[in-house]
Amino acid sequence: MEYSGFNTGLLHGKTSTGYSQREILPPVSQVTAFSYESMEELEKVFAHKSMGYAYTRIGNPTLTAFEQRINELEGGAGAVCCSSGMSAITCALLALCESGDEIIAGRGLYGGSINLFHDLEKLGIHTVFADVINRENVEKLVNEKTRAVFGELISNPSLTVMDVAGASEAAHSAGIPLIVDSTTATPYLARPLSMGADIVVHSTSKYINGGGNAIGGMIVYGGKFNWDFEKHSALSEFKKYGKMAFLLRLRTDLWENLGGCMAPANAFLSYIGLDTLGLRMEKICDNALKLAKALDLTKGIDVNYLGLSDHPYHAYVNKELNGYAGGILTFRAGSKEKAFRIINSLKYALIASNIGDLRTLVIHPASTLYIHTGIEEREAAGVYEDTVRVSVGIEDAEDLIKDFTEAIENSDTGG
Ligand SMILES: *Cc1c(COP(=O)(O)O)cnc(C)c1O
Repeated sequence: MEYSGFNTGLLHGKTSTGYSQREILPPVSQVTAFSYESMEELEKVFAHKSMGYAYTRIGNPTLTAFEQRINELEGGAGAVCCSSGMSAITCALLALCESGDEIIAGRGLYGGSINLFHDLEKLGIHTVFADVINRENVEKLVNEKTRAVFGELISNPSLTVMDVAGASEAAHSAGIPLIVDSTTATPYLARPLSMGADIVVHSTSKYINGGGNAIGGMIVYGGKFNWDFEKHSALSEFKKYGKMAFLLRLRTDLWENLGGCMAPANAFLSYIGLDTLGLRMEKICDNALKLAKALDLTKGIDVNYLGLSDHPYHAYVNKELNGYAGGILTFRAGSKEKAFRIINSLKYALIASNIGDLRTLVIHPASTLYIHTGIEEREAAGVYEDTVRVSVGIEDAEDLIKDFTEAIENSDTGG
């Protein structure tokens, strides 16, 4: 069956059925281990000679159900779900890089990812940063030590957009895979593998789960990269799997050894959250555009939203993002004090360090997510002393607009 619509495909895709007792959802296999009739059977499972589960850290049917569904949505060759988005990014990078290797990354990254690149530095893996990941910057920064190019499709919270096609061509001609963190875009806005990316990572904690009830991450591999095993010596033991070496190293080696599996209950919660991704993204993006337009007309407020026609990356909304501009906007209030006053007087937006929830969430990134990041690096990530980040939810747009405009007015009078 082929479906033309996103929601129909999501609900009736080939990986959405086939559970053992005809359940309409995957059962939650909330177990640590799986038992077998004989030692011979379990031996076969460990030797990868028969399909089966042994121990949840190395595989679990609820995790498989969630992996297969995201893999189908992204058009991948296989996916591995992880305990968090950070775990997914760590696994994907460590599968490709060894001490002495280099990564090219976009500067406007999620704070946790910036911190991870600092940790990798201590393991001898060096990152060079580009203002944005595009053809020109990859060509400029690539060298014989580069092993991966990493960027966020829509960076959180700077809201720059990667040029996936251009960057992947430049990376591929140097024998390097392109990894796209598509957390903020979601498969509803973009399918990076179809645009040239080789690996997609998600924090499923955000829009994919949608309800704010489970941390999780996912790595999806496109299956098409031609590995040069001398260059990517981190994969050399998996050479016999050819193009699939990356996925095999993850699945049978790094992912299980680092111990970052997703909890089965979290896989279930994220699976059911995913059911409404299309509906939520539609409403969230519509609300975000309406709120951004209203804030843009508000005196003293400088709004950053991809959907506004004067945004420097606005052209990508139609070029890469299916006509949508995402659910995150930021604005500069003029001072940290004013930013705090506005945030504190909002009625509906919750003050919380998350994005992609059903509820509108708001935060002052400089004093939270970027508190351990140096000023220069923080500002390069689009976070200033007076920046407020809003993750727009599915409330009624009129209520959100009223709430924000009133909070801004009150903040002027010090009220
Ligand atoms: C939240 C986030 C992450 C990290 O995900 P966790 O699930 O919190 O570990 C990575 N990248 C982006 C773009 C994010 O928004």
